Amino acid sequence: MDGLMQPRPLTIAHILERAERLYAHKYVSTAGAERLTYADVADHARRLATALESLGVPVGARVATFASNNRRHLELYLAVPATKRVLHSINIRLSSEHLEYIVNHAEDDVVFVDRGLLPQIWPSVGRLPRVRYWVVLPDGSDTEIPADSRILDYDELISGSGPFTDSFEDTFVLADENLASGLCYTSGTTGPPKGVLYSHRSTVLHCLGTLAAGLIGLSEGDVVMPIVPMFHANAWCLPYGAMMAGASLVLPGKSAEPAHLARLMEAERVTVAGAVPTVWTSLVPVLGAYDLSAMRFLLGGGSAISPALSETYRAALGIPITHSWGMTEVSPVGSIGGTRTQHRDATVEEQVAVRAAQGQPLPLVNLRIVDVETGRELPRDGRAVGELQVAGPWVAGGYFRVDGGDSFTDDGWLRTGDLATIDADGYLRLVDRMKDLIKSGGEWISSVELEAAIVSHPDVVEVAVIARPDPRWTERPVAYVVLRDGSDTTAEELWQHITPMVVKWWLPDEFVFMTTLPKTGTGKLSKSALRDAIRIA
Ligand code: ADP
Repeated sequence: MDGLMQPRPLTIAHILERAERLYAHKYVSTAGAERLTYADVADHARRLATALESLGVPVGARVATFASNNRRHLELYLAVPATKRVLHSINIRLSSEHLEYIVNHAEDDVVFVDRGLLPQIWPSVGRLPRVRYWVVLPDGSDTEIPADSRILDYDELISGSGPFTDSFEDTFVLADENLASGLCYTSGTTGPPKGVLYSHRSTVLHCLGTLAAGLIGLSEGDVVMPIVPMFHANAWCLPYGAMMAGASLVLPGKSAEPAHLARLMEAERVTVAGAVPTVWTSLVPVLGAYDLSAMRFLLGGGSAISPALSETYRAALGIPITHSWGMTEVSPVGSIGGTRTQHRDATVEEQVAVRAAQGQPLPLVNLRIVDVETGRELPRDGRAVGELQVAGPWVAGGYFRVDGGDSFTDDGWLRTGDLATIDADGYLRLVDRMKDLIKSGGEWISSVELEAAIVSHPDVVEVAVIARPDPRWTERPVAYVVLRDGSDTTAEELWQHITPMVVKWWLPDEFVFMTTLPKTGTGKLSKSALRDAIRIA
């Protein structure tokens, strides 16, 4: 027997309507230089909806953004999916080869681009024949705009269009929740990038999952700053989540300079911020110089947050970094860390160890670990290590216009490529990415654990441990280390520091000192780029 409840769909148009009805006076700040209310942002989004109609952008067409975290980008986040088009947010740090591949693969109809980013994308225009319009988003820069009839100005488009109101509810709020709403490409470290096609339903459920109290728990009183780029898996849903909750938003704009970010957090009294660990690391030297006392929640994910980094924040601000595991394919948040009531009486060290875990799955997300060889599910005992697989209503079931290959199991779960344990309480702990594990003498060494040990040395800023081929042991770990400015710490001292923390045969064969380490387009440490650099050198 069916239930008798209303089959109202879960759509992004509802987020727009809700923000303008309930939280019209709440605001979006861009880089501290501009503040607009949600009423203004919603009005612009409705005008943009009209503009998309008049540009003849078909329903279902992909509308791309090539932009920093700014207010106009947020308006696109609302208007494009709300009107049944698909928001394709492009990573602004892609190589031109990958950029051209994904714009052509997505068949983007229109690209909205920050004025200051034009020089990065315009040289590719001849190889992007399907793009009909290039809409320039003013961003305070005076970058020259090429004379080309396909180029339009965003602000002129908005001011020249009336707000779309007619039948908004029937056409958009009550649209099919399974329609595609967003498209994000994975980084493509192995093979070409693959498109993950989110739906309205998956996006709304994912936002509700992250909004839940006890997880991120955004509320109306929050001021939320997504430092994570809006092209990185919908900025982990922080923009939509903030609008749903009625929290104000602070978007950092073009600059990722630590002093700019910290100044903004202080000035806007930011309460919740999310970023990858390399960004949290870059902020450490400036923490003492700003009043960040309004902060209540620091979210970190995308790579492992070392206990040392989290503890640095706990010492400086009184709050650790809450660890989250995710993937573009998981919208992206799959699990959130932190302690539970049962840990209240635990020692500080025990609590640090719990917080180092990637945490518990969000409601509606299912995690399991399986034996890589046999595919058999392994026990949740905190010891058995297997490949992490995930299923849930905001987990990809396939890729856009390419075969999923072996990315999915026969029963439809996503294979993550991560190795992990799950304990009896459901806590997930990532051991390593399968491709980053170091195989030494028939045993495995976790690069992640070694890195956590090395970075706990007070003079180490960043470290990446990768495998070096070895005739006797197959592979041996080598640590590439960035030290604090002016530090004269030696390899011998690092050896001594980590010796009590890891078994002897895990100790790296060599510490190589670097001035910087390569990063991916989303700002994470890039081991593949490091491996390439070493091969070339
Ligand atoms: P990319 O491959 O470009 O990094 P994603 O952003 O989708 O693409 O990254 C997903 C991967 O990032 C995960 O499979 C996992 O290996 C890693 N990852 C994400 N969050 C964490 C975390 N909290 N701890 C360790 N690794 C993480």
